[in-house]
Amino acid sequence: MADKAGADRYIDQTLTEVGLSLAEVKGRYPNELSGGQAQRVAIARALLTRPSLIVADEPVSMLDASLRMSIVNMFRKLKDEQHVTFLYVTHDLATAFYSADRIAVMLRGWIVEMGPVEQVLGSPKHPYTVSLKESIPQADPDKVWNTKTSLVELETDEYMRVGCRFAGRCPAAMDVCRQQVPPNFNHEGRMVKCFLYE
Ligand code: SF4
Repeated sequence: MADKAGADRYIDQTLTEVGLSLAEVKGRYPNELSGGQAQRVAIARALLTRPSLIVADEPVSMLDASLRMSIVNMFRKLKDEQHVTFLYVTHDLATAFYSADRIAVMLRGWIVEMGPVEQVLGSPKHPYTVSLKESIPQADPDKVWNTKTSLVELETDEYMRVGCRFAGRCPAAMDVCRQQVPPNFNHEGRMVKCFLYE
């Protein structure tokens, strides 16, 4: 890529991999791109160096549902065709389930459950993963949220807590949970950080 034409060809090829072309974006300011285009350009920039790993932190949180799926599909394509590994950081369990092979569920800096995504989200074992899955809104008027939680208070409490950081909210909390940090246990093909699986 010593010459500009060669550089343009390489950039165009990389943009093609994310469903764009150089002609579509060249000379345009970021505010002249749609949300989906801007995300794709950002991903193409990351791909230019041919990385084996891309850390994508909430890459689709600002996009609408259809664009979200197109970006997630693109991750899968890049993973299958170019063997790029994505570390996909998200609060969106639906796209995580769709796009990931393995998932690590985090609570206050701990990985509390980790394993194949079908197992962890299909049949969650850690009480926090269970509550996370139950928190997904459902289009059912009988399933309403009627409890209020002060997250600021919980966050401080949980980081400072002796023992399990989820003990204040866990419906299965035992005495040992308030005294000791739970180790990581292997259970049904995944890791669970919970005394219930000792
Ligand atoms: S270790 Fe105890 S408090 Fe923590 S998630 Fe398991 S049962 Fe609940």
